[in-house]
Amino acid sequence: MISNKIYELMLNQINAELGASYLYLSMSSYFEEKNLRGLAKWMKMQSEEEREHAMKFYNYLVTLGKRVYLKALAEPKSEWKDVMEVWQDTLNHEKKVTEMINTIMKQAVAENDFASINFLNWFIDEQIEEVTQIEEIISKFEMIGDSKQGLYLLDKELGSRTED
Ligand code: FE
Ligand code: CA
Repeated sequence: MISNKIYELMLNQINAELGASYLYLSMSSYFEEKNLRGLAKWMKMQSEEEREHAMKFYNYLVTLGKRVYLKALAEPKSEWKDVMEVWQDTLNHEKKVTEMINTIMKQAVAENDFASINFLNWFIDEQIEEVTQIEEIISKFEMIGDSKQGLYLLDKELGSRTED
């Protein structure tokens, strides 16, 4: 069994992961409109991955016999100044999600909730991966600057994404 506090934090986390999924899908559509099909594909895959994150929490709670009450999703941002701003937003969002995961972990540790600690460890690793991955992408965009050719090549590179 888990405490009410951890239960509430996990319900919020489901909302945050689905919110990320919603935001990344909105970003994907923005890229599609700009004919950046590779970036659009990358973001659409990321959107799907965020739904899987939500489902991990969903399944964990269901396994523990808890009811999952879903909260409303906020309308995601749909316009950005440029491509770089999209990636900056993505990085900021993942940093926020990392903080949220850390908060749940702190609570699980404080309560000696070993099952939740074990469950959350996967997310601790995943958040390191997410933040590192996006920082790498941002540094590549910084490298190419305003180069159209660079953008073309980066679109191709990110469009070759096959897994996490
Ligand atoms: Fe996530
Ligand atoms: Ca990932």
